[in-house]
Amino acid sequence: MAPRILINGARGRMGQALASSAKELGLVVTGEVDASDDLAAAVANADVIIDFSSHQATKAVLDVAIARKKAVVIGTTGHSAESKKELLALAARTPCVWAGNFSVGVNLLFALTRRAARVLGSDYDAEVVEMHHRFKKDAPSGTATRLLEIILEERKLTAAALRHGRAGITGERTAAEVGIHALRGGDVVGEHTVMFAALGERLELVHKASDRGIYARGALRAAEWVVSQPSGVYDMQDVLGLK
Ligand code: NAD
Repeated sequence: MAPRILINGARGRMGQALASSAKELGLVVTGEVDASDDLAAAVANADVIIDFSSHQATKAVLDVAIARKKAVVIGTTGHSAESKKELLALAARTPCVWAGNFSVGVNLLFALTRRAARVLGSDYDAEVVEMHHRFKKDAPSGTATRLLEIILEERKLTAAALRHGRAGITGERTAAEVGIHALRGGDVVGEHTVMFAALGERLELVHKASDRGIYARGALRAAEWVVSQPSGVYDMQDVLGLK
């Protein structure tokens, strides 16, 4: 049976995309909640909460989901590494899909980035460039953060290797650094480029989103999938069977 869905952050760009994609797909939305609405009251009629709101709301969403035994899909980004660690430990107490990006194309980009980093090795300088609309509140994007995590894992580097933009007398680039550059402007839905540059050649993996419906449809697919899973934290690779 189709799960009953509650959207948290319903008046935002993603909240509205979720409501219209759910309608197109014939899915049942039983609650649309935004800041200052009562999430705990609204959740009674739902099987799963889909949250695309603010990183400050995630703890309250998880508390409600755990207390009421509801599944949850977290799409919100912008958590600090420390707070994300604590929230993931909490999220494991209920069936939860947590993903910085719900698009199928981007999830394939994650897999291709891992493969490229492994095959090309540290002689190929890795840089990530992302661009989003002028309204985005956090940087780098959750997707760029995941791409960087993959590169760091493959290169056996820590977050200390990251260079957020460069300015001034930086010295020559070393193999033990990974650059990240966040561009903001206009109405760009989301673009990510992973670059591997060596002496004599450069490989670029590029993903461009032109409609936030891709994230909404992925999150709805995750919601349908997660309601029949045991408690634990899953990602889009689990939902898509890419593992
Ligand atoms: P937005 O600013 O358009 O909408 C956010 C909405 O959340 C607003 O209506 C706001 O009033 C509401 N909100 C704020 N605090 C709240 C609270 N405590 N409880 C309930 N609602 C609250 O932003 P957006 O573009 O829709 O993005 C929302 C989040 O989703 C951001 O973190 C963004 O980075 C993320 N996002 C993730 C993906 C993905 O695939 N994972 C894709 C797009 C956006």
